[in-house]
Amino acid sequence: MEKLIIIKYGELTTKKENINLFINTLKQNIKEKLKNENVDIRFDKGRMFIRVLNDNFDVIIEKLKEVFGIHEIVIGYELKSLDLEEIKKELLTLLKNKEFKTFKVETKRSNKKIPHISTEISREVGGFILKNKENTKVDVHNPELMIHLELRNTESYIYFERVEGLGGYPVSTLGKGVLMLSGGIDSPVAGYMAIKRGVKLEALYFESPPHTSIEAKNKVMELAKVLSKYNNEIKVHVIHFTEIQEAIYKNIPHEYLITIMRRMMYRIAEIIANRCNAKILVNGESIGQVASQTLTSMKAINEVVSIPVIRPLACFDKLEIINIAQKINTYETSILPFEDCCTIFVPKHPVINPDSRVCEEYEKLIPYKDLIYNAIKNHEVIKIKDEKQQNFEDIL
Ligand code: ATP
Ligand code: MG
Repeated sequence: MEKLIIIKYGELTTKKENINLFINTLKQNIKEKLKNENVDIRFDKGRMFIRVLNDNFDVIIEKLKEVFGIHEIVIGYELKSLDLEEIKKELLTLLKNKEFKTFKVETKRSNKKIPHISTEISREVGGFILKNKENTKVDVHNPELMIHLELRNTESYIYFERVEGLGGYPVSTLGKGVLMLSGGIDSPVAGYMAIKRGVKLEALYFESPPHTSIEAKNKVMELAKVLSKYNNEIKVHVIHFTEIQEAIYKNIPHEYLITIMRRMMYRIAEIIANRCNAKILVNGESIGQVASQTLTSMKAINEVVSIPVIRPLACFDKLEIINIAQKINTYETSILPFEDCCTIFVPKHPVINPDSRVCEEYEKLIPYKDLIYNAIKNHEVIKIKDEKQQNFEDIL
């Protein structure tokens, strides 16, 4: 009998035509996640089996809890036999150190050639436990101990506890997206949600030194590091936005500052996305949150690009967003008080219903195509990995 980790895919198994892509990508992502551990991974259409050769079960389970596409993680015992007598014998050995008064046996039989149906096996094994473990009884509704048996092609598995996985799709199965990542609360949450749907992200950050500080940039890198846990690693494109913002500030009527600044961000984001073969932009906009997120504003801003813009938080309340930020550990970093480029050039009365023809007229007042060209030519790319020793001050 060998102790190992069993992974269940959950939602993946409904993707009939793409199942191989999904499972292979998940395997690749798990391998990457566990690259510093000594493991051996085997899989079939319904399960993945991880032999842990360094006995680091706890560390590995914690790492697997950060992999999208995993529905359940189980520590189980493998028996190279389907013989019921042998299963009962091994089960009894496993139960030796377990204290319980009530139990339930649940059997899954993927090998239909086995002569007994699942409920018969459960009943038989249950009767055997009652005989051999004193003072125990069956409770089908609320048992202290759940005993799971799985009989597959030539092996059977026994397991007790299950750990919930993150669900979602394996990262990369849906292709790539560019996340507009600021230091705020919303965009890291939006990124997390897109990764959950199988989108591999590259991040894009607009900085405006000297109006924005190195601390603000560090904060974005910290947030990227959290996202990199789920994304394998993450590339952050940093765009130097100062010249564009100053040109807007000097030349354009202030009520339109934000609308036009965001149109410039979108244009740049689309170019970056095309260059890295990303199919979508992702951002943290939420309907009605600020003047630039009214429906009319969103339309006037969205109009300058043809790439789809996915807004996972479009219909979320701020409190709901904060809840997720706390769960994924981005909240404490996001609320650090460093200025973002959006917060510095905020006009007193931003337009709530901007007119796109007015935007086009105002944009003629600045050489924005040249400015965008320069910003992209000089942009910097930083690779962020979820490794403890990474110190951003050394990189920046
Ligand atoms: P907050 O939580 O304070 O609202 P925010 O980052 O969402 O932070 P918004 O002004 O609501 O700030 O910006 C809307 C979206 O635009 C962000 O979620 C983010 O996707 C994008 N964005 C804003 N500023 C930047 C920036 N400096 N770099 C990259 N993307 C940005
Ligand atoms: Mg916001």
